Amino acid sequence: MSYEPRRRTYGDTDWMQEAVCRGMNPEIFFWGGTKWSADQKGADRTQAKAICARCPVRDECLDYAINNNIPAGTWGGVDEPERASLRRRRLRDARVAAGGTR
Ligand code: SF4
Repeated sequence: MSYEPRRRTYGDTDWMQEAVCRGMNPEIFFWGGTKWSADQKGADRTQAKAICARCPVRDECLDYAINNNIPAGTWGGVDEPERASLRRRRLRDARVAAGGTR
């Protein structure tokens, strides 16, 4: 099942040229796989999300992560558990739109 991106005006990764996080330390967005350590929890999410909040390509970034099923990191200001939940919701909505059941 595929998703229609909300907005896509560039090629698949051209949007990355406009990313606010270009050149930043990737550890702000990724911190060792898909689990946070207790002391990293909150702080890193907050920092990454604050950076993403001022990024002009948030939608493209989030769509890219969801469409490519990227499990780790904060993309488009959305962290891993939020993204998994959003992905499930999009799948459910796509099923309903196709005439299926929830
Ligand atoms: S939304 Fe966040 S992670 Fe995505 S490109 Fe922008 S700053 Fe980077």
